[in-house]
Parts: sequence; C-alpha cells; structure tokens
Amino acid sequence: MADARADGIAERRREALAELEDVDRQLADLRRMREAVHDDDEHDPDGVSLSSEWSRLEGLRQTRIDALAALDEAAARVERGQGAICSVCGRPIAPERLQARPQATTCIDCAK
Ligand SMILES: [Zn+2]
Repeated sequence: MADARADGIAERRREALAELEDVDRQLADLRRMREAVHDDDEHDPDGVSLSSEWSRLEGLRQTRIDALAALDEAAARVERGQGAICSVCGRPIAPERLQARPQATTCIDCAK
C-alpha cells in the first residue's frame, strides 16, 4: 500500500518535473526573443504580447513548482509511514483518495 503510493508519487513527480523543464525552456526561448526586440520594446506591438506571455509562463512555472513541492511533501509522509491529514478539517485523508491523488492535502469532503 505504502509502496503503491510511493510509486504513484514518483511517477507524478517525474511528470511534474518534465512539465517544469518544458516551461523553463519556453521561458528561455522568450528571453532570447525579448533580447532580440528589447531595443524599442515599448513601440513594438510584439513587446506587449511578449510581456503577457511572460507573465503567463511565470505563473505556470510557479504552479508547477508548487505541485512539485506538494508531491515532495506527500513522498515524505509516505516515508514516515504517515497517512495524510486534511489541512482543513484535520481528519485523515482516505487512502483511496491518496492513491488517486497522492499530493492531496484535503479530504474529499473539504475538496468539494
Ligand atoms: Zn477535510
């Protein structure tokens, strides 16, 4: 049971890491594009869309970093042999929910 949870977490972590790397690559591309047009950013209509794309990617990056952190916490709980406790009501999170979503921090009732 704990092994299945650990495997599920490890798999999601790999996915989350790949997604984060993907965002990092897009940000690096955007940075290069920005540097190419930075001379008259304000007059360049592309400058505006680059900025909004930048904010979108930064937001996405933060979301993925948070997801990774949540997965790491979940992995640490499994290592300590602990079930997860709902951060809202303090009751244990059902094992079935943790299998479907190892990084869950709330029980099914509180997630609604
Ligand atoms: Zn709850």
